Amino acid sequence: MMDEGKLAPGLYLVATPIGNLEDITLRALRVLRSADRIACEDTRQTQKLLNHFSITTPTTSLHEHNEAARTPELLAALQAGERIAVVSDAGMPGISDPGMHLAAAALKAGIAVYPVPGANAALTALVASGAPAERFLFFGFLPSKAGERRTALERLRKQTADRLTVIFYEAPHRIVETLGDLAAVWGEEAQVVLARELTKVHEEFLRGTVAEVRAALAERDRVRGEMVLLLDAVPEAKAAVAESVSERVAALAREEGLDERDALKRIARERGISKSDAYRELQRERGKR
Ligand code: SAM
Repeated sequence: MMDEGKLAPGLYLVATPIGNLEDITLRALRVLRSADRIACEDTRQTQKLLNHFSITTPTTSLHEHNEAARTPELLAALQAGERIAVVSDAGMPGISDPGMHLAAAALKAGIAVYPVPGANAALTALVASGAPAERFLFFGFLPSKAGERRTALERLRKQTADRLTVIFYEAPHRIVETLGDLAAVWGEEAQVVLARELTKVHEEFLRGTVAEVRAALAERDRVRGEMVLLLDAVPEAKAAVAESVSERVAALAREEGLDERDALKRIARERGISKSDAYRELQRERGKR
């Protein structure tokens, strides 16, 4: 797509605000204004946004349940040279939202697909969370059934070899339960951040251990609003909570034949601390005896 002038034919994946309408970009407005039509997750929801910005482009519906069925018709329009914008209710289309099925089909058919970036709840939460952002994993929504959720978290813990921040989307009526599952799988002391109502009037960040954030929510009459949950996933965090460094050094010597130096290296990695911190902690524990 050129920066100025008429839009090139193709499919435009357009991000929309996640709360604050000022987060729409100038380019998003131009694309929405100039497109032949806008495929929306919920036409009524998008219409409010379009009315606010006096955009009169026709809309058509494209949601989770009709995306596959509508794709052939939209592809035919794209092949005939239309410019179609795709938006979800909020944020980036395709991120825990519809849009990817159509985008993949368009690419397969040789149609140009243009991203029009903007707000996204996961990244917005991450950058202000204080959690490490060098490496992160976007998980999206956990399963809503308790057993499946616990299994998903256990699998995630087994797969996590290095420290990283895991980003979940969660519904307010499930958050306390999910924090309970996190505590069971990653330990009560695992660090989390709950980002609520991002970019809105009641934006809030709760930071602390799983147990602390859970207790803070449990005190409230009702937990409301949209939320992103971030977990500072330190491998073996649960074992680390239960064991002192000296116990872990002894266990690694016994179970894996590691000498003290290699054991400290491993422990530092497991706990997301430096080797010298692990060594200092070992000395401190030994000094205690
Ligand atoms: N496509 C969107 C994006 O790019 O972020 C996400 C759509 S997903 C269906 C909706 C979920 O995103 C919500 O349940 C919540 O977890 C998160 N979310 C969306 N807006 C948010 C906000 N303003 N504050 C916190 N979380 C938000």
